[in-house]
Amino acid sequence: MRIRSIGSEGRRKVCLFCENNIKSIDYKDHKMLARFLTERAKIVPRRTSGTCAKHQRQLSKAIKKGRFLALLPYIGEFQSS
Ligand SMILES: [Zn+2]
Repeated sequence: MRIRSIGSEGRRKVCLFCENNIKSIDYKDHKMLARFLTERAKIVPRRTSGTCAKHQRQLSKAIKKGRFLALLPYIGEFQSS
């Protein structure tokens, strides 16, 4: 019998959008979207952010739209090296 440590991930995070009853993610809300980007402007994986599959899909769409409209960066920080 193997015992898997369930507690390693800590408390299961609730999807922020489900929690706040957000049905559709607004791409214009770039401040909120920026929270789901890493410092390199990558979309934070579901495992890390705790966003559910449904909202993660919407989120990635919103971020891509936001990038297109120059609300969000394609790459984070200046890489001058
Ligand atoms: Zn959700």
